[in-house]
Amino acid sequence: MRNPKIKTFFTEKQVCTKNITEKSSSRSPQKPSLLIKRLKQNGYIKMLEIEEKFEPVSKKDFLIAHTEEYVHNVLQKKGNYDSNMLEWSQELVNSLHYTTASLYHAKKYAIQNPETVCFAPVSGMHHAQPGRGQGFCTFSGQVISAIKIYEEFGKSCAYFDLDGHFGNSIEDTRDFNPTLDLAIPVGCNINPDDQNDYYVAEFETGLAHIKEQILANKVHYVVFAHGADSHAEDDLIGQCDTEHWVLCAEIFANWVNEVSAEMGGKPLPVILALFGGYRKDNYNAVLDLHTKSLLTCSNIICGNNFEDNFVIPARPKK
Ligand SMILES: [Zn+2]
Repeated sequence: MRNPKIKTFFTEKQVCTKNITEKSSSRSPQKPSLLIKRLKQNGYIKMLEIEEKFEPVSKKDFLIAHTEEYVHNVLQKKGNYDSNMLEWSQELVNSLHYTTASLYHAKKYAIQNPETVCFAPVSGMHHAQPGRGQGFCTFSGQVISAIKIYEEFGKSCAYFDLDGHFGNSIEDTRDFNPTLDLAIPVGCNINPDDQNDYYVAEFETGLAHIKEQILANKVHYVVFAHGADSHAEDDLIGQCDTEHWVLCAEIFANWVNEVSAEMGGKPLPVILALFGGYRKDNYNAVLDLHTKSLLTCSNIICGNNFEDNFVIPARPKK
């Protein structure tokens, strides 16, 4: 039996607003707060149970996936501190300790309470490399949290990274920290590509592979990062129209139930995350895509019956 609420690790401390709307090309550092606000406005906040008290990660944790020099640069505004392509501020640095912590605590809670689906409203986790940031990502939160969990619990993870861009942090960190091969085994970072039906088919191939790994006891929990920049109307990229984008959430949620049944009714630990999404003309479209994905998981995995009346606005014709 699943907990009907999605346990959400959110604090305003994981948000940075300073210099983001005006000076940065990505609004992702603000997104956790904007999404929670929108869910409060439209009433869907009742899907979630919010946990705002959790410990930040430390500087030592950043060294799990990064060189001492790069971590120092980011914290002190030196050298290649701006390789993340975001405007530096102390507020941004402070928030980084909480975004990775949100994902870490969501994973930890899901492992200890597998009947509860957990949600880390975070982005900026999957392009950084050991010695630099990249593509609005400062630190490899997905790698750091996975290795911490492996070291504490001996549990391994698979990523379904449905952001529009390939999540390179995992493959780019394997040599730097070999424990990553245990925390996220090779072949368990699933990043579908192509368009619509072909994208969905690639995703389904990935799901079938990870199901085998789970049933062979090689993978113990999964992260579903349904980035909104895989939506066709996104500013940056976009592989799926609305129908196919939402279909991916439905397929994932049904797969979770199927795998859990095959595990003898033991619920598979599931963590949801945000990742990318860029719409200069209408940022609410990004927030509503994330809401649609959450609603789908809430209804299918957690057994709820929320209505979904969202229409994702099309980009205005030029
Ligand atoms: Zn992206």
